[in-house]
Amino acid sequence: MVSRRILYCSSEAYPLIKTGGLGDVAGSLPRALQQLGHDMRLLLPAYRDLLQNLSQRPRRLIELTIDHYPVTLWQTTLPGSRVVTWLVDCPPLFDRPGNPYLDDDGEPWPDNAQRFALFDQVAARLAGDQTGLDWQPDIVHGNDWQCGLIPVYLESQTDRPASVFSLHNLAYQGLFDRPTFDELGLLESLWHFTRLEYHGRFSFLKGGLIYADRITTVSPTYAREIQTPVFGHGMEDVLAHRADRLSGILNGIDTRTWNPGTDRLIVKRYNRRHLLDKQANKRALQAHFGLPQTGESMLIGMVTRLVEQKGIDLVLDSLPWLFNLPVQLVILGSGDKRYEQALQQAVKQYPRQLAVTIGYDEQLAHRIEAGADLFLMPSRFEPCGLNQMYSQRYGTLPLVTPVGGLADTVIDASGEALQRGEGSGFVMREISVPALQESLQRAVRGYQTPLSWRQLQQFAMQQDFSWKHSASAYAALYEQALQDSRMV
Ligand code: ADP
Repeated sequence: MVSRRILYCSSEAYPLIKTGGLGDVAGSLPRALQQLGHDMRLLLPAYRDLLQNLSQRPRRLIELTIDHYPVTLWQTTLPGSRVVTWLVDCPPLFDRPGNPYLDDDGEPWPDNAQRFALFDQVAARLAGDQTGLDWQPDIVHGNDWQCGLIPVYLESQTDRPASVFSLHNLAYQGLFDRPTFDELGLLESLWHFTRLEYHGRFSFLKGGLIYADRITTVSPTYAREIQTPVFGHGMEDVLAHRADRLSGILNGIDTRTWNPGTDRLIVKRYNRRHLLDKQANKRALQAHFGLPQTGESMLIGMVTRLVEQKGIDLVLDSLPWLFNLPVQLVILGSGDKRYEQALQQAVKQYPRQLAVTIGYDEQLAHRIEAGADLFLMPSRFEPCGLNQMYSQRYGTLPLVTPVGGLADTVIDASGEALQRGEGSGFVMREISVPALQESLQRAVRGYQTPLSWRQLQQFAMQQDFSWKHSASAYAALYEQALQDSRMV
């Protein structure tokens, strides 16, 4: 294998800053690629919260001026790894409290276009040789709309590196208006429907889709789905047009962070040979939420952003039916106010069976994975999804819709699979309330048959979701991107 220099750009990376699955991936894939022998640099914006999470003072690398903004590039390492991490520090744009993308009211920061355009320009500048750094990448790999302009800026460079653009969620497209386009000083020729223009506005994401040498998304099924109108969010034609450059590589998970045998955030550690110890986590979780500590009730867990994508409405509509069954449901999440309020309202109605924590809580997320019997993920679409993989490792059977990465990672415990002892969860036949109820009914029945339930848990816990295969798939893709970039 040839060792390549890879600049991996992301707007978040665990454990420095994370809002969702992208953070997990950017916090673990660069390390997996480094272990394969590649020379990695992880590039992140230096948000205030991120800088506060650093345990050591970073080293000043270079200073740049971009669009009149002073930029300092700091060097540190991603905690828990040896991945060299570069931080793009531009205080007027990134030194503010809270969420990387949203203000206190949950609204996008009004200058998000300027913030991420600057980040993308820095990435493109680092890829050239005018910065004084003696490190130029062979590949620049960007993620999601925040990195969508990187391939656009690279396009105008001679002798540019190859570019890869990964889609973690097509629903977020980085759409902005014409005055913003002018403010960013983008070339007039880019304002065209075959380039960045999109129904009277322009899209960062489209830049990535049109100009990257290779496009990936985070599961093979999602790669197919997004070429259709139902899942394409209006980008299906652009994607179908670039189908020869588009592929799906399943996300891996960080098997050190998410391992019930070593997890320090849970109450009692366990493995598939000591599944009884999982019970202590269940009791602790019930106690934490003030629910009756019964073993007979199947404890269902959810950890999720509370947004339409995640099928919260299906769950809300099913509650009166669900609570006739011997089940309890605990939910950790935050997001749309209407869902937060509806859930809090429902708790008043079903205090002995439903408990909800609104917020973001890494430790509680681990405790729910460890303590629940069933993990609920009825997503309307799911590019990859990580929690259904975490929950399998924790012997917490996932119940999922048949979409995207959920379809690629959960083996339905149907009659046949069960007989072969091969199910790892429950896959709904379609996205609907009746299908959700049918699968929940199946799960409850399964839970009442402890022997076969344990078999399913053990099968699920043996699934290999590590980065081993997927990191190699990315390495192979980088070689293809290099070939493609040389042909242009
Ligand atoms: P998405 O990226 O669409 O949010 P994923 O399943 O790919 O969904 O990844 C979600 C990640 O964020 C998981 O690691 C999950 O545990 C975490 N997460 C989501 N909401 C919360 C929360 N409220 N508290 C703690 N972790 C959360």
